[in-house]
Amino acid sequence: FQRLREGLSRSSGQLSGQITSLFTKRRLDEDTLQDFEDVLIQADLGVETATRITSRLSEGRFGREISGDEVRSILSDEVEKTLSPVAIPLELDLSVKPHVILVVGVNGTGKTTTIGKLAAKLHRGGLKVTLAAGDTFRAAAVEQLKIWGERTNSPVVAKAIGADAAGLAFEAYDEAVANGSDVLIIDTAGRLQNKAELMAELEKIVRVLKKRVPDAPHTVLQTLDATTGQNALQQVEIFRNVAGVNGLVMTKLDGTARGGILVAIAARHKLPVFFIGVGEGIDDLEPFRARDFADAIAG
Ligand code: GDP
Repeated sequence: FQRLREGLSRSSGQLSGQITSLFTKRRLDEDTLQDFEDVLIQADLGVETATRITSRLSEGRFGREISGDEVRSILSDEVEKTLSPVAIPLELDLSVKPHVILVVGVNGTGKTTTIGKLAAKLHRGGLKVTLAAGDTFRAAAVEQLKIWGERTNSPVVAKAIGADAAGLAFEAYDEAVANGSDVLIIDTAGRLQNKAELMAELEKIVRVLKKRVPDAPHTVLQTLDATTGQNALQQVEIFRNVAGVNGLVMTKLDGTARGGILVAIAARHKLPVFFIGVGEGIDDLEPFRARDFADAIAG
C-alpha cells in the first residue's frame, strides 16, 4: 500500500491540490461543479464517472460551502464504489490440471514481469508452474522469461525465434501435463504495430488450446501499464474482443502513474482486477484493494 501511495502521490497530490484550491472559500455552484468535473476527467476517471461523482457531490450541498476534505472523502467513497465490484482475487480452478493462464497485452506493459511475479507467488503457495515463451518474436522476451523460470523453479517451454506461437502453446500444454504442473502460464506477443497479424496469432492460440481442452485458457489476463493513461481503455477493448480477457493486472503503479484510468476501466468494462504491479521486483505484485486505491487517488 505504501508503494502504491507513493507511486500515486504525484497524480493524486495534484488532484488533491486542485480540490483544495477549487473548494477553498467557494460555494458549491454550477461553475465549481463544472471545474470539479473537468479536474476528474483530466485525472483519467472518465466522463461517466466524473459526472456521477459530481452530481453525487452536489446532492443536498448545492449553494453551501464545502471543505476540500469533505470533497476528498466523497470522491474516495465514490471511487471505491466503482472499484469494489472489480477487486476480485485470481482464483485458480485446480480441479483442472493444469490451469491455463494466457497472458496478453501490448509490449512493454509488463507481461513477462507479471508472469514472473505470479509464478513466484504460486510456487511459494506450493504449486508447480510451467511457463511458455509464447512471444516467439522477441529474443529478449524469451530470455527474460527463462530468467524468471530459473528464479521461480519453473520449467520454461521455448522455441526458436519466429516459431508458431500456437504450436508452442500446444506443446507447452503437453509438457505441463507430462511434468505434473498445476498451472501453465503462457506469455504472448503484443506488437500492436501489426495488429491484424497479432490478433490472428492470439485467436489461433486460443483456438488451439480449446481443441486440447474445451474450457482453456481458464484465465486470460491482460496487463495494462498505468502510465499510459487513456490508451489503456482502448487496449482492453482490443484484447477483450480477440482473446476473451477475463481479468486485468495494472502495472507500474509505483511510477508516475495516474491511477485514475483504472476507475474508467472498471466503470466501462467491469473486468476483475486481479493484481496491481508496484515495482520490478519478484514481490512487487499485490492484490488489488479498492479502499486503498480509492484513498490513494483522492489523496
Ligand atoms: P512485456 O513486454 O509486456 O513483457 O513487458 P515486461 O515485463 O518486459 O516489462 C517492461 C518493463 O516494465 C520492464 O523494464 C519491467 O521491469 C518494467 N515493469 C513491469 N512491471 C512493472 C511495475 O509494476 N513497476 C515498474 N516500475 N516497472 C515494471
